[in-house]
Amino acid sequence: MGNSISEHLGYIYSTLPQDVKLVAVSKFHPLEALQEAYNYGQRDFGESRVQELVNKHSQMPSDTRWHFIGHLQTNKVKYILPFIYLIHSVDSIKLLDEIEKQAAKAERIINVLLEVHVAQEASKSGFTIKGLFDLFDNNPNFLFAYPHIRIRGLMGMASHTEDEEQIQKEFRKIFSLHQRLIAGPLKNIETENFRILSFGMSEDYLIAIKEGANMVRIGSAIFGERG
Ligand SMILES: *Cc1c(COP(=O)(O)O)cnc(C)c1O
Repeated sequence: MGNSISEHLGYIYSTLPQDVKLVAVSKFHPLEALQEAYNYGQRDFGESRVQELVNKHSQMPSDTRWHFIGHLQTNKVKYILPFIYLIHSVDSIKLLDEIEKQAAKAERIINVLLEVHVAQEASKSGFTIKGLFDLFDNNPNFLFAYPHIRIRGLMGMASHTEDEEQIQKEFRKIFSLHQRLIAGPLKNIETENFRILSFGMSEDYLIAIKEGANMVRIGSAIFGERG
């Protein structure tokens, strides 16, 4: 592996199966870093802060696809709604309600993922496995409850640990929740568009792919350590 962003990206592409999508997590990195990745062919970028995302969006080419991956406060939804491609980190009904409201105003349909809490750290956010299962079990049509939102799949983060078995176990929980939903509460519902499984970061994305992720969010392995 070389030292430039292009070399890092080239290496990561070479390790990804065709059906796995890479989101380059560019948070805290300067515009020039994103531009280098863009010039190499990368189009999907992930950011975790609203202001930083809005700034970068205004300076990058218009075909860049922006992913929001951080905790999103309801009062900031309106700033990213006009251009966001996918919000990974939807962790409450309240946030869905606000996205619907702003998306209706902006006359857009917004793609979102529901964040599932599987890590040991209480600090990480997301719905619980049981909470999400029960939500769909009680109302399978929840998938289409919001006219301006498309729920495209699930997102999650494993614990920050070197214990690979633990990480594997947590990723399996996300994959299996998706399987159980599709085979259970959602079996009579059109779920073709509910297939995105976003998990895996720099340290654990190879495990994630083995456990069924089809979208990985990689930052430091591409751009280096964040300052
Ligand atoms: C920062 C971040 C990433 C990328 O982390 P790296 O370890 O730098 O690859 C992925 N997902 C989320 C939600 C993040 O906040």
